[in-house]
Amino acid sequence: MSDDAPARGLDDDLCVRECERCPALVDSRSRIVNGVGPTDADLLFVGEGPGATEDEEGEPFVGRSGDVLDEALREAGLARADVRITNCVRCRPPENRDPRSEELANCRGYLTEEIDRVDPELIVPLGKVPSEHLLDRDVAITSAAGSVVEARIDGAARRVLLCVHPAATLYDRSQREGFFEAIAEAADLAGAADGAGGQSRLGDY
Ligand code: URA
Repeated sequence: MSDDAPARGLDDDLCVRECERCPALVDSRSRIVNGVGPTDADLLFVGEGPGATEDEEGEPFVGRSGDVLDEALREAGLARADVRITNCVRCRPPENRDPRSEELANCRGYLTEEIDRVDPELIVPLGKVPSEHLLDRDVAITSAAGSVVEARIDGAARRVLLCVHPAATLYDRSQREGFFEAIAEAADLAGAADGAGGQSRLGDY
């Protein structure tokens, strides 16, 4: 692989163990934060990148945004353990800035490989950065949230449900209802795959 080719190279658990492609992120991270959840999940959430809590705990969406996501999943009848959750970049950017385009590009091969190997029924990018990164176009996320897009992502046909970032519900309470509705819709769309290896809903038990 040439030095500027997007990274690929997840291990059997879909984890990156070592990577030094982004000097600023290598400096700011405590650890690499890999995706979590079943490696054959029907529902894949993609965030932007780890924040302080995620960097400390080594798991995506375990801070305040993660609490909102967990709550919405529960209301939709899903447990966090039923779904896969990952990020566009796996290392915490300094001062929680957005990942730079070269950092997104450096990490893209890992995300592409994770999507290919999980092969989810539905991908839900959480917020503007992952939506634009996956769809490779501008997305006005507040107005587009809740819409389903049939997209080609890295050559494969994928169904994508656009969604605001859970943090948006914390600084703008009026986003909460839409966020919860989008997660319920995601659960329904992934639930539509039941019988074809789809995940069980908590409400089934
Ligand atoms: N925000 C993200 O985009 N990802 C996380 O893992 C946590 C917060």
